[in-house]
Formats: sequence, C-alpha cells, structure tokens
Amino acid sequence: MALEILSFTLGPAFTNAYLAGDSDSKTAIAIDPAWDGHIILNAATERGWRVANIWLTHAHFDHLGGAAAVADGSNPPPPVALHPDDYWLWRVQGGAPLWGYQIDPGPEPTIDLKHGMAMHLGETQFEVRHAPGHTPGHVMFYAASIGVLFCGDVIFKGSIGRTDLPRGDHATLIRSIREQVLTLPDDTRLLNGHGPETTVGQERESNPFL
Ligand SMILES: [Zn+2]
Ligand SMILES: [Zn+2]
Repeated sequence: MALEILSFTLGPAFTNAYLAGDSDSKTAIAIDPAWDGHIILNAATERGWRVANIWLTHAHFDHLGGAAAVADGSNPPPPVALHPDDYWLWRVQGGAPLWGYQIDPGPEPTIDLKHGMAMHLGETQFEVRHAPGHTPGHVMFYAASIGVLFCGDVIFKGSIGRTDLPRGDHATLIRSIREQVLTLPDDTRLLNGHGPETTVGQERESNPFL
C-alpha cells in the first residue's frame, strides 16, 4: 500500500500525532505534530520521506508543540494548514500559557482550511470536515478511499472532546459529531487526538455521551 500512517503519543497531554507518508512520492504530512518534532522528523527521514505539509485539526498547544521543530528540520519548511476560526487560538500559543507552558507555535498557517475542501497526499484524497465545538475552527481529515478519519479532539473511544475551554460549546460539538462523524460508514477508523483508536460503529453503539 502506498500510504502508511505512523502514530506517536507525545507531550504533556499524551497527544496523538500522525505522520502519513506516501511511499510513491516519498512525501509525508505531519498531522497534529504534538510535541518533540524531532521524533516525527526522524521517522520521516528514516523512510526517505519529505514532510511536505503540516495539517492541524485545531490550534490547541498540545497538537502543535512540535510544529516548529518539524518545520526547522525540513527543506523547504512545510506550509501549515489550519481553519481560520482557530487563528485566534494559534496566536496565543494554543493556550499554552494557561497551562504554564511556553511554546514556539512554528510557521504561521498559510493554508486556510474550509469545510469540503479536498487535500491530497500522493493519490489519496482527504476531505476537510469542519467540526466545531471543542474549538471553533476544529476540522477533521477524512480519507474515504482508506476509511480513515483523523478526528482530533472531537470524539474519543468512549468519550468526546472537552468543551470547558475558551470558546468551547457542548451543543455545537454534539451536532458536529452527529453530522460529521456518525454519517460515515461504521468501519471508518477514528484516529483521534488522545487515547486508542476506535471506529464510527463502535462509538455509535457504545459511546455514553451520544
Ligand atoms: Zn484540543
Ligand atoms: Zn488535545
């Protein structure tokens, strides 16, 4: 298979970072480079992949703390993609100071993500799905051809994203899950921001928050 997905659990919030690599074009995308960017970069280098882009599901600091290191170690530095509704959060270091951290958020986002936008890695297409509630500009990346949804902090195994942080909204999050997650096929893998992966079918059946 041309597309390989590596996952890393990094940083103070045990955030899942992903590296999706295309072995044909030797390019990769770092999705939520959470922390310790050198670890993500080394994994790419070992496989001969160039990190071509950084995609952020949302701008919380624990999802982008490794972006600066990934960018610094890549030539050319990969453009960063973020939904504009999370720029306010990106500009305050993703809220890091609230938690007692100082981070370098890395290169300023230059790709404005929009609901319905198509993104590509090699021959694999990803659809951007706007799923606000945890943050206003939260998006998910859905690759229908491989049945994978990178869903960030929208939904977890047996849980959902917290909505008590600035500009979070519970009703909005539930609506996002119903409209943007539960409408996908049951066997869709949910590669989320924290904890083990799950599937749409499993959460539809047993998630106590839904
Ligand atoms: Zn978050
Ligand atoms: Zn998180």
